[in-house]
Amino acid sequence: MQYPYKQFVGLLGMSDTVWKCYRCNLTFKEDQLAEMHKSISNHSVSKIKTIVA
Ligand SMILES: [Zn+2]
Repeated sequence: MQYPYKQFVGLLGMSDTVWKCYRCNLTFKEDQLAEMHKSISNHSVSKIKTIVA
């Protein structure tokens, strides 16, 4: 069985998840903020992982 890459990465649990708007080049640490930005600006916001050293 094959798993999507994102799910596999999620198993590691060592990184922060942030939401990024590529149109504004903004990142949001809270999903509520990302959702708000999405609804206000009608931009698409992508969930990304950042590695914390
Ligand atoms: Zn935006």
